Amino acid sequence: AFDIGRDLGRALATAGNFEREHRLVQELQELADYKSHLVATVSHELRTPLTSIVGFLELLEGDSGLSDRSRNAVAAIHRGSVRLSRVVEELLVLHRTGEGDLDAAGTVDLRATVAGIVELNAEPAERRQITVTGHLPAGQVPVRGIEHELEHVVANLVGNAVKYTPDGGHVVVTLEQVAGEVVLTCTDDGIGISAADQAHVFEEFYRSADPDAAHRSGTGLGLAIVRRLVDRHGGSIELESELGSGSTFRVRLPGA
Ligand code: ADP
Repeated sequence: AFDIGRDLGRALATAGNFEREHRLVQELQELADYKSHLVATVSHELRTPLTSIVGFLELLEGDSGLSDRSRNAVAAIHRGSVRLSRVVEELLVLHRTGEGDLDAAGTVDLRATVAGIVELNAEPAERRQITVTGHLPAGQVPVRGIEHELEHVVANLVGNAVKYTPDGGHVVVTLEQVAGEVVLTCTDDGIGISAADQAHVFEEFYRSADPDAAHRSGTGLGLAIVRRLVDRHGGSIELESELGSGSTFRVRLPGA
């Protein structure tokens, strides 16, 4: 039966919850913005001194007056600093994305982008007897977006495919236009990703503990960047993989 006291009470409680939730969402957003700002500022501050550290270490490495012990130490510090620089650069990319205005973005021919990345990776891969092949449509494949960001997506996926594939393997990059969508597929017959790892590989700093993966160097930021860039372009990314058989990453983007 109708009970104005009870119904009004419920309505007020719902409104109160809604307001609290709204405030919570706002606070979370502010925290997320603050985190991005903090990471970007710290990374930016680290960048300049790191560049000079790496530069001076390279100079020192060329110094013929060093003892073997010192030379080994310098080489180890150099490797560490280069790795640190890579983390800083990737953190900057990760926390800067979203800053450029996507509404003002132009149309990118993804076919040309993919062809360029395939070519760029083919030669270094060949040194490990890995083939990198592109299956691309004949004509242009227009996508709305920011060219260097889309290039970053393709370069990262193809770079990973080569990195996580043993010598003699195969990487195939396919670009298709399906029902108004552009589908980019990067398949390798490399080490693969376990089901447990698949749930985490797009998280920041996540790296597989699988010994086959762990001995290949990386920061664990690559796929986090890829996912953020794809999201921002209104697309989606999915992963199919089996440990020991290989991996397929599939990116869907709205066609222009
Ligand atoms: P990383 O710098 O470690 O390569 P990514 O974010 O690019 O970072 O990838 C996260 C993890 O996902 C990697 O450490 C690796 O374990 C796994 N991974 C990514 N791509 C592949 C692939 N093509 N084959 C097998 N494992 C992969």
